[in-house]
Amino acid sequence: MNLMTGPAKTFAAPSPSRRGFLLSASAVALGAAALAAHPARAVTSAKTVTIENFNAAGKSIGKVSVAKVVKIEADWKKQLPSQSFEILRHAATEPAFSGNLWDFHKDGLFHCLGCDTALFDSETKYDSGTGWPSFWQPISKLNVVETTDTSFFMTRTAISCARCDGHLGHVFDDGPKPTGLRYCMNSAALKFVPRA
Ligand SMILES: [Zn+2]
Repeated sequence: MNLMTGPAKTFAAPSPSRRGFLLSASAVALGAAALAAHPARAVTSAKTVTIENFNAAGKSIGKVSVAKVVKIEADWKKQLPSQSFEILRHAATEPAFSGNLWDFHKDGLFHCLGCDTALFDSETKYDSGTGWPSFWQPISKLNVVETTDTSFFMTRTAISCARCDGHLGHVFDDGPKPTGLRYCMNSAALKFVPRA
């Protein structure tokens, strides 16, 4: 049962069957890589990913190759508040107008709640009227990953964190200039860090 599904038809969580499929698929992938050698080290055999780091002022301090953050379900559950866990790890969606960031106008950066990677800058945040924090671009294309989400008989583009694979929301092409994009995010997947 998914209690986080929002009322907006354009922004809902994947169905349990889709989720089950994804979990099975990743389990198979992990298993193939890890079980052959060392079952106990399955979650520590992380690959690396190139992300862009930012200082507290929001200025890029360069690209860096870092280990992906990979944890077992139980560890994510321990680390994250329950709603954030359902969003980041199970692609749930918080109800519209329920989060703490949709009507939030402070100056700073929005980081991934799962792994602290910088994801969005408040300078690209705008009021989309949807009830979810919305941005017209990520802080760096390197820090987010786009995947096709075909749940609920729709084809949407899901956005996840490049370092921990945490689900963040979706991107739509009805945003404002200059990109025309609307990165529709879940408040509970993000952590606000004031600009220094
Ligand atoms: Zn992350």
